[in-house]
Amino acid sequence: MPSRSSPPRSFVLSFKRLSRLSVHAGLAIAALIVAEGGAHAAPRPAELSPAVPSPAVSSPAPAAAPGPANVALTFDDLPGIVLKPDQAYVDATNRALIGSLKRYHYPAIGFVNEGKLDEIIRKRQIAVLRHWMAAGFDLGNHTFSHSSPNEIGGHGYVADIARGEKVIRPMMENAHRRLQWFRHPYLETGNPEAVKAEINRWLGGHGYRIAPVTIDCDDWEFAEPYDNAVMSGNKAEAQRIRGIYLAYTERTIGWYRRAAQALFGRDIAYVMLLHDTRLNSDSFSGLAAIFNRQNLHPISLAKALQDPAYRTPDDYSGKDGIEWLERWSLALNKELPWDDYEDVPKIIETEYNKLDSQ
Ligand SMILES: [Zn+2]
Repeated sequence: MPSRSSPPRSFVLSFKRLSRLSVHAGLAIAALIVAEGGAHAAPRPAELSPAVPSPAVSSPAPAAAPGPANVALTFDDLPGIVLKPDQAYVDATNRALIGSLKRYHYPAIGFVNEGKLDEIIRKRQIAVLRHWMAAGFDLGNHTFSHSSPNEIGGHGYVADIARGEKVIRPMMENAHRRLQWFRHPYLETGNPEAVKAEINRWLGGHGYRIAPVTIDCDDWEFAEPYDNAVMSGNKAEAQRIRGIYLAYTERTIGWYRRAAQALFGRDIAYVMLLHDTRLNSDSFSGLAAIFNRQNLHPISLAKALQDPAYRTPDDYSGKDGIEWLERWSLALNKELPWDDYEDVPKIIETEYNKLDSQ
């Protein structure tokens, strides 16, 4: 649910799609120029293997098991995104999610918006954060109010980050842990370049490391229709949404792996963006089954970032909230396999927009 101070997510989504289109078009033109100059333009995967069925019609399970790779699981918007303020619902969501992460022995990190603490019952919201820490998971800063730097400017954004550590910094330090991870809301990192540089300087000066994202399956867009189904007692609808979500997530993970292949010729250690939602809490065994089938092994964020891929420069200072493979594709001047990128299914998008406009 967008908070008071955040732009509607539907706006963010359309922005992201716009960016994909424009970046894709730009790279396609660049590739054309290179091709006309006689250089070799890399063929797209579809051209290489026309027999491979399109992701839209393929079954979730791939024909052959992919090679092993690692993934860090990161959960944004703690203590939780929820359609309607309901503390018992948030408490139950987090209890189940943390319980599942522990049961599977998956490392994880939670990125907090302290502005959410007063949206329901502050004491219990803080108890949720303590629960994450007690389970062994670190907390990171996700700004106080989940605002976009494009809307509040560099100074305002940095102030919002500083305001976002009032509770979690003492919590982490009292547990002898270091508050060091920062995740940009909407993955918007500052525009123009001077604003991005100002934010990065502040983050570096305060001991923060940016948590990049290299798998993003837009889980938040499914989460709101899912809450609506659960909160109205419509179990069949909730089950249907979980099914669509998991199938889409598995196909999209496959796309990110092909994207990494396009840039680096190998799997990288991925960083997956997820949100602290009932959808993920209720879908956890399905997510774990996907990781098993896809041969993806959860590791910590710090460990994932040891992959040299993360030393690739992020020179992007545009307005769009794009993930890091897309940023790197610009730095490396290599095209991502956009031709088989699949958007969130229309039925989910329509349902989300309906709820979001209420
Ligand atoms: Zn967020």
